[in-house]
Amino acid sequence: MDVRFMEIRSHGRAVACCRRSCGTNPHQPAGASPRPTICTYTGVGVNSNKIIALFSAFLFLIAASCACSRDTATDQPNTQIRYDLLNTVITISIYDDADDKVFGDVFDKIAEIEGAMSVTRPDSEISQAAAMAGKSPVALSDETYFVVKEALDITVKSGGAFNLAIGPLVKLWGINTDSPRVPDRAEIEQIKELIDYNAVTLSDSDKSVYLELAGMSIDLGAIAKGYAGDAAAEIVRSHGIKHAILDLGGNVVAIGGRPDGSDWRIGVRNPIIGESGYIGVLTVKDKAAVTSGVYERYFESGGHYYHHIFDGKTGYPADAGLLSVTIVSDSSTEADMLSTVAFLLGVGDGIVFLNDYENAEAIFITDDLEIFLTPGIKDSFTITDDRFSLAT
Ligand code: AMP
Ligand code: MG
Repeated sequence: MDVRFMEIRSHGRAVACCRRSCGTNPHQPAGASPRPTICTYTGVGVNSNKIIALFSAFLFLIAASCACSRDTATDQPNTQIRYDLLNTVITISIYDDADDKVFGDVFDKIAEIEGAMSVTRPDSEISQAAAMAGKSPVALSDETYFVVKEALDITVKSGGAFNLAIGPLVKLWGINTDSPRVPDRAEIEQIKELIDYNAVTLSDSDKSVYLELAGMSIDLGAIAKGYAGDAAAEIVRSHGIKHAILDLGGNVVAIGGRPDGSDWRIGVRNPIIGESGYIGVLTVKDKAAVTSGVYERYFESGGHYYHHIFDGKTGYPADAGLLSVTIVSDSSTEADMLSTVAFLLGVGDGIVFLNDYENAEAIFITDDLEIFLTPGIKDSFTITDDRFSLAT
C-alpha cells in the first residue's frame, strides 16, 4: 500500500507514520483560489494490485489555517490514523483536549464493527450467514441486525437498486480482489437468482437472518462504513469533545464546527478517474458527508473502466450518467446508504427518492461534468474547478 500524506499534525502526540511537508496543496485545482495548506491527509491509497485503485480520500478536510504555524492550541488537532481497518485509512482529528483513550475506544469500536460486518473475514457474522445460506437462519448481534435491517429496508424502498444481497455479483466481478475480471453474460445470468433480495428473511424476534438459497450472501459495503462513522462519533461525543473530524476513508463525520466557531471546509473529491484533488468545497457543522463515486474502486479492461457499484438488473456496473454523488446528512449511516442509492438511480430519480429524507442534501456530478444540487445545500457548496459547472 502506498499512502501519501501531507500536513498531519498533532500536539506532538501519537500520529501514525506520515511524511510532512509544509506548503501549498499540490492537488489544488487549476484556477482555484490559493489555500494555505491542507491540515489533514489527502491520502490516495493504492493497494498492491496495479489495476484496482482504492482511493481513500473521497472527501477531505480543508483547514482554513495552516498547521505549520501554530496560533492557538485548539487550531492544532490531535490526530491519530489507522490503516488496517475497513480496508481504508481512518483519521480521527480532535480539536479539544482529549485523553488518548478516546482514540483507543474509537478504533476498538470500528474493529468490532468490521469483525462483525465484513464480507471478506471468514469469521464475521455476515460470512456465517452466507455459510448457512440455504440451510438455516443465523442469529446476529444487535448492531449487525440493525444494519442488515436498514440495508433491507432501503433495498425494498429503492426497488432493488440498492441491493443488500448483491454479494455474489460483487464476488463474480472480483472487484475487491487482486484479480478483477469482466464475467461473461452467461455467468452473470446464472448469478442473478442468487442476488434476489426477496430471498432474504429477517426475524425481529430472534434477530436472525436467513438467506434462502445456497450461494447467497449479504454485502454491507455500501452502509457499514457509514454506520461505523456514527458509532465513532457517538464515542467521541461521549468524551465531551465538541470539535472533531472523523474521516473513515472519505466518509467524513464533522463534530461541531471549527474551534473558532466557523464551519468545517470539506473538499469534494474530483471524481474523474485518474485525476486527484477536489472540485469544490462544502461547508458543514455537525454533519456527515459521504460520497459514492466511480473512482473509489475500479479496474480497466479492453479500454473500459469498470467500477464497483453494480446494477443488479443488468449485472454490470451502474451507468446512470454519474461520476459521483455526495450526501450530507445528520446520520452517516443514512448518508452512506443514500449516496449509493442516488448514484444508482441517477439525478432525476435520485432527487425524487431523496425527497423522503428531509435532512439529506446531495451533490450529483454527472459524467458531462455538470453539478446538480438539492436546494438545501446551495449555499454550502462552492465549485473550485471551472471545468465543472452548476446545472441550471
Ligand atoms: P458505496 O461506496 O457506499 O457506494 O458502496 C459500494 C460498495 O457497495 C461496493 O464496493 C459493494 O461492496 C457494494 N455494492 C455494490 N453494488 C451495490 C448495490 N447495487 N447495492 C448495495 N451495495 C452494493
Ligand atoms: Mg454507500
